[in-house]
Formats: sequence, structure tokens, C-alpha cells
Amino acid sequence: MRIPAALLSLLLAASLAGQGPPSVKDQARRYVDTLAGPAFHGRGYVHGGDSLAAEWIARQFNRIGLAPLNGTRFEPFTFPVNAFADSIAFSVDGHLLTPGVDYLVDPSSGRSTGTFSLVHLKLADLLSPERKAMTLGVVMGRAAVLHFPRTANADTLALYKALEDELARYAPVIREGGKKLTWSVGAAPARNAMLEVREGALPDSARTADIRVVNRFNPRHEARNVWGVARAKGRSKDWLLVTAHYDHLGMMGQALFPGANDNASGVAMLLSLAEWFKKHPAKVNILFVAFAGEEAGLKGSEWFVVDRPLDLSRIKLVLNLDLNGTGEEGITVVNATEQKAVYDKLVAINAKSGDLPQVKARGPACNSDHCPFVQKGIPAIFVYTMGGVSYYHDVNDRPETLPLTKFDGLYRTLVALIGGVK
Ligand SMILES: [Zn+2]
Repeated sequence: MRIPAALLSLLLAASLAGQGPPSVKDQARRYVDTLAGPAFHGRGYVHGGDSLAAEWIARQFNRIGLAPLNGTRFEPFTFPVNAFADSIAFSVDGHLLTPGVDYLVDPSSGRSTGTFSLVHLKLADLLSPERKAMTLGVVMGRAAVLHFPRTANADTLALYKALEDELARYAPVIREGGKKLTWSVGAAPARNAMLEVREGALPDSARTADIRVVNRFNPRHEARNVWGVARAKGRSKDWLLVTAHYDHLGMMGQALFPGANDNASGVAMLLSLAEWFKKHPAKVNILFVAFAGEEAGLKGSEWFVVDRPLDLSRIKLVLNLDLNGTGEEGITVVNATEQKAVYDKLVAINAKSGDLPQVKARGPACNSDHCPFVQKGIPAIFVYTMGGVSYYHDVNDRPETLPLTKFDGLYRTLVALIGGVK
């Protein structure tokens, strides 16, 4: 929809007259460009990407004037990570495939380099013990291509995974994926390379593959949550946490996973809110936490509730921001059914402002950093935007394609919500 210029200036005048929070979208765009740019290497586990992002966020907190917590800006912890810093190559019958587009290296892939003849396997080749023993004999020294029937059944998928892991002890394994390739972060690596090819990228007739995949497993990757405090207006012992994870998937060889929506957008929202509440203190103290290790399994938030840098019983609300870069279809509030009063407040704020097309309630889900807090009985919600682009955990989640459509609307909504917490 196009808004006529006259109407636009009228709207602008109205919003200025209201003395509400100003637009933060342009600045958010710059934050996202920086965080999801090549200099931070996908904020993961190659070339120090996550650490560089942590330092950049700490500098922003310093600039905004947030106070440290317990005399420090960082909360360090470690966890195991399997990563792929070296460039990778995979060609089939001499045809070079594109990483991130035609194929993925499985996050828990091991190392394989060389030319392998391909053995095409069906599920039946692995089901009975006799047949499986024969198949494993044939696979030795070659690479296995798995043509398993597509399924969404969790038990069947678990069986596929177990068979794949078993095969990977003996040989590189290549599985056929769907049309959409979705990457993640792995821990304990397999002995050989494991690859997932996009549907149609590897014909049944393929004979040989050249594979160069070298993993680097770090059992104690050092990561840091970054935090900053905006003090309450009066004296308050209570806290509100605004959280967003800054880590993403890093790089898979030369393929960059920028993570613009996931979650440079949430960090941009967190920084925007930090700037507002530093200048306009709330009724409670606000701790802004940029979490590390979310994509590796909520490592940063899990550590926070164990480490307990503040009295957890004093936390009135955790507002977790992840995937805040669209909004064409409004927002979803995860754990809304358990935090009915907070959800109702959001709905009421939006009913007045009309900033968002929809404020949708969702039940509990352990799908982002609010979850470890919920599990400790601390009130927490997770807000993500809906609609617009749907790139997720892939090479296309880039700043250039991220619309930030309702960024200002969501920002104003959250300013109103946080301002009302006491
Ligand atoms: Zn995320």
C-alpha cells in the first residue's frame, strides 16, 4: 500500500505532537547491517565471530550509558561446539555444488577428504540386521547416499538419524533433504563427513563425489553474555529483563549465515529500548542481556539462571526478543497463555495505537531464551514478528532482504509495556 505524501506528513506531525518515542527504524537498520555483515562472520564459531559481536554490543552499551552488573559487562561460560572454519568443497560427478544453496554440512559432521564412489541406499538396505551388516561391508571406503522416504513422523526421523549416525562411523554419508535447507549448530562430531543435499541436487545415477570437509571440534568454546543496567526512576529492588540472543550459526566453510532476522533484529530492538529507558527510567530496574549460545541450545540463558547474577525472585518479567524483523502479520507472544495479564496489556496497548496488525497468543514453547526462565517459574514471554520474508537458518537471512516493516510499531508497543511494569 502507498501512503499519499500529504497523509504521511500529517501522520508525522501527529506523532511528533504526541511526544511518543521517535522512529528508531533507520538506526535499527544500521545495527542489523553491522551485526549481520561479513565482519562478524555470522556471529558463530569461526573467526571469533561471536566474540567480535559481543565486544561490539558492549561498546554500544557503553555509548548508551548502561551500567555494568556486579562490576562487569560480560558473563562468561563455555560449551562444546563443532565448527567448519576451513573452506569446504563437494562435487558430484565433477559438478561442483554450492554450499548453503545445494547442500549443507551436517552440524555434527566429522572430517572426510577425497574422492569416493557412491553407494545408493534405500531404507530396506539397513532395516534387518543381516541386510545392514552386508550394507556396512559394501559402504566401507565409499560414500553412502541415503534415499529414505520423506516423513514428518518423529519416531521415523529418529530411526533415520540413528541409521545415519551408525553409517557415519564407517563412511561419509549424504542424505537427501527437502527443497529448503535449514542449518543449525552441532556439538559431538561424527567420525566422517555428513552432508545434506537439496532435493534434486544429486541424481540417483550419480557415481562419484569429491568431498573436502574438515571440522574443528572445540569441547570448551568460550562465550559471553553481554549485559547492561538502566536503573529505575525511584528506588526499586525489582527487575525487568529485556533479552535477545546475538549469536547465530557462523559460517559453514565459505558460506556465511548472516542471521539478520535471527537475531540481529532482536538485538537492534534491545539496543533501541536500552537507549529509550536510559533516558526515560522505568519504575523498575531494567537489565538488558544479549545472550550468547542460543543457537547451540539456549546455552547463554541456561547459564544465566544457574549463575544467578541477581536475585531471580526479584524479576517481574523477562521480555525475550527474537526474530523481530518483519511484522506484516503482527506479532506472536509465546507463553501468553501462562502470562495472561502481560498479554492482555499488550493487546490493550495495541488496541489504542493500532501499531500492529495482530497480537497473537501462543502457549508455552521452549524455542528461545525465555524458556530457562519459564522453567524456573520466572514470568517470561517471547515476542516474534510474523509475515514478510520467511528466510530462516539459511544463507538468505540477510540484511538486504529484511523489511523491518513494523519495527517502529513494535518498539512503541514495547516501550508502553515496559513503562507500565511496576
Ligand atoms: Zn533466534
